[in-house]
Amino acid sequence: MDQYGTGRERMVQEQLRRRDITDERVLAVMSEVPRHCFVDDAMRGRAYGDHPLPIGAGQTISQPYIVAYMTQALGLTGSEKVLEIGTGSGYQAAVLSRLCSQVYTVERINSLLAGARKTFDKLRYYNIRAKLDDGTVGWPENGPYDAIIVTAGGPGIPEPLIEQLADPGRLIIPVGNQHVQDLQLLEKKEGQVEIFNLASVRFVDLVGEHGWSK
Ligand code: SAH
Repeated sequence: MDQYGTGRERMVQEQLRRRDITDERVLAVMSEVPRHCFVDDAMRGRAYGDHPLPIGAGQTISQPYIVAYMTQALGLTGSEKVLEIGTGSGYQAAVLSRLCSQVYTVERINSLLAGARKTFDKLRYYNIRAKLDDGTVGWPENGPYDAIIVTAGGPGIPEPLIEQLADPGRLIIPVGNQHVQDLQLLEKKEGQVEIFNLASVRFVDLVGEHGWSK
């Protein structure tokens, strides 16, 4: 176990199991993926705390519980193709990559994308493809996706993402204003779309053509 292993185990026990994270595959992955590798050296000691952390460029890596919660809501079984919008540090993509067959992730800030790519290489997470773009238009070339996760909050669900979602498929996204959002789960099944409100959350802005303009 690396020197952060104890903190990571405690995180899984106290922040995830004790709440409502019950998917054993998600719990196993959360106890494996080295979250401290996705934050700056100065922040590593706080990597397993019960809170989000700054990752530069005014952005944040979500609290571990939120990462686990959103991941669990996607109900991955191992064979899926998943699209993430908002690579940030790369941590959420890394967690997903251990639970599905291929992750595509899109980030609009170059410095963050470059950092995430470096970490994926270092940890040998080879089933993640990342690109610099406005993710609100999706990544049409590789769709449809069995699951789509948006890790920034927008004013609505971007239409291109609904189009690029497979049937059956699940999409999770924070929707609301620039202060507070509802975490919405959209389920596509037999040609129908249903939307569920899961929780009240606070994310950084989804900026783009189908998001906020700034
Ligand atoms: N999943 C990330 C969380 C990063 S915070 C992690 O695990 O660290 C949200 C990220 O979404 C920010 O990096 C922000 O730059 C990015 N973002 C915001 N709007 C975007 C858009 N339209 N396309 C792609 N990325 C976007």
